[in-house]
Amino acid sequence: MKKSLTSLRNFLWVFVTAIFAVDFAKILMDTSLIAGSMHQQMINTFLRSIFALFELIMACLIIYFMIKYPERRLRLLSVSFFHYTFILFLPIAFKDFTWMAVLYPWPQTLLAFDPKTSWLVSALSLFVGFVVVPLLTFRWGKKGFCGYVCPHGAFYSEAYGRLFSPPAGRLKWLRTYLPRLYFLFMAVALALIFLVPSALDPVRQTQKVAFFLASQMLYLVVGVPLVGARSYCTHCCPLGYEIGLILRYKQNDNG
Ligand code: SF4
Repeated sequence: MKKSLTSLRNFLWVFVTAIFAVDFAKILMDTSLIAGSMHQQMINTFLRSIFALFELIMACLIIYFMIKYPERRLRLLSVSFFHYTFILFLPIAFKDFTWMAVLYPWPQTLLAFDPKTSWLVSALSLFVGFVVVPLLTFRWGKKGFCGYVCPHGAFYSEAYGRLFSPPAGRLKWLRTYLPRLYFLFMAVALALIFLVPSALDPVRQTQKVAFFLASQMLYLVVGVPLVGARSYCTHCCPLGYEIGLILRYKQNDNG
């Protein structure tokens, strides 16, 4: 079984690297030249099918870990429910990918402020970001959102991330600086959107590329094999940094 998991891990790493390389090439290339054409539709269908296959493999891994580790079942069920509901089910049901904004609130993304996002999804995203996350953190600490809800770091670390076990303690310096810098970047981006509304488009495009590189490409291709399942959470995530600030405030308040 160990050999099969090692083979699966190597296959998945190559698979994930290939997906993100194609996606990155799509971001870099000027696809406006083929906008609305059959070629663009083919590229989009190809990427969507590959992503669906990846999610199917993740679901199989979650079921495998649920059977193997009964003590993790509740957490696995919870993160799977939130992941598949907000990343797949609602976006497909409403034909609207911006439903992801609900569990990717600021400072994780600026999706809530995207012109394509409906007012309902924006309102839900703001509610989650500014009310639900702080409340969960006050009540259950970091494990409230990061342990049982987050469709990103929590879900992928419990599925794909569990296949890797690199030595602990790597890139400590990055852990010290990157989350606070990323949080600062997102705070400046948010302030810019409110103070200079005409800057929304370039700010949103910059944030999209930063999010793609940090939380998808670097996390799943480099971070997980090099640092571990929670590499994005510990070494980068601006929402995780904000949750840490809330906890520090709570401790000071209690003390
Ligand atoms: S640290 Fe960030 S990515 Fe990780 S679980 Fe928490 S919110 Fe999600």
